[in-house]
Amino acid sequence: MTEDAPFPRPTRLTIDTAAIVANRRTIAARVGPGVETAGVVKADGYGTGATAAAKAMAADGCRTFFVAHVGEGVALRAALAEGGRDRARIFVLNGLLPGTETTLAEHGLAPVLGSFPEIEDWAAFGREEGLALPSAIHVDTGMNRHGLDLDEARALADRPDLAAAAGAELVMSHLACADEPGHPLNLRQLERFRAIRPLFPGLSASLANSSGVHLGAEYHFDLVRPGVALYGGAIRTGEASPMRPVVGLEATILQVRDARAGESVGYGARQTPKRASRLAVLSVGYADGFHRTASSADERLGGRGFLHGRPVPIVGRISMDLMMVDVTDVPQAARGDVVELIGPNVTLQEAAAAMGTIDYEVLTSLGRRYERIRR
Ligand SMILES: *Cc1c(COP(=O)(O)O)cnc(C)c1O
Repeated sequence: MTEDAPFPRPTRLTIDTAAIVANRRTIAARVGPGVETAGVVKADGYGTGATAAAKAMAADGCRTFFVAHVGEGVALRAALAEGGRDRARIFVLNGLLPGTETTLAEHGLAPVLGSFPEIEDWAAFGREEGLALPSAIHVDTGMNRHGLDLDEARALADRPDLAAAAGAELVMSHLACADEPGHPLNLRQLERFRAIRPLFPGLSASLANSSGVHLGAEYHFDLVRPGVALYGGAIRTGEASPMRPVVGLEATILQVRDARAGESVGYGARQTPKRASRLAVLSVGYADGFHRTASSADERLGGRGFLHGRPVPIVGRISMDLMMVDVTDVPQAARGDVVELIGPNVTLQEAAAAMGTIDYEVLTSLGRRYERIRR
């Protein structure tokens, strides 16, 4: 199904929604029946489309979702209500921004409260409205990002009336190094979270993101919050992903041209092929989220595509709307052929490594100009 293209576009992004559902099932099977597997769909479902991902997961039994922003939550609530799943829980990870209380309440969104002022504001709003409004409490166990510190968590535990007035259902924390199983911070965060949990006896508890799930059952608690793994991301940075791939990216060749040996290619004249070469010009560039850091230069090989069974290296700098690949060794390469940039032969993780970044950033940078084909 083509989502939004009345005519063919030169670049195609395929998104395998069934793979997202299958990946969530894989995680659910790993954590077992006693642990809830939520779906993190922030940043438009890591660039793949939050609405379709969430609807498909909800239809498969997912009852709890996490977004980052209130606006994402509002859109998600509307999408789920269409499918008759308006009872799904939606947590807003970035917490309570002043002035968003009414919007959160109207759309049944639960802020993840990470500071005393947020907790007090949410509790006061609930009292004024005479409503029991849901929330989660975020405790920082070692990331030093969002959340109550350990002393504040203890202080909150001494005021059960406040936690109750704020509608707290869930106490959660976030791991800083879950993608490095041997990192000592994992155990330290686990121990701190274990110490915090009994302070909030009525609340369910959640610690693990995608890679946290793979650290072991002691990290699972009542609910796990996978994001990137749903979308085919790696569990350990720098390793192949054990999940089903979700995203494929293909670009059409606009032109095949000859380049003389010793002539530079592209902006900045950063690469000068030593041999006479055939170059294919592709209609994709950094404005499409194909980061410029995957460019090639004489001293550095960049990313690659795949065409007719062979790798085709990127030549020169990636520009805003175009890039070149070397097809000298693929004689049948022709205008209109389709080059794989992410897919079975060039994994998301490989593309990310060529760009000097992680699969999360590649996914969330995916451009708006692609023809999006949903399977
Ligand atoms: C983004 C996020 C997640 C999901 O993380 P992944 O590494 O993508 O699985 C879970 N919890 C919090 C607090 C997050 O910000």
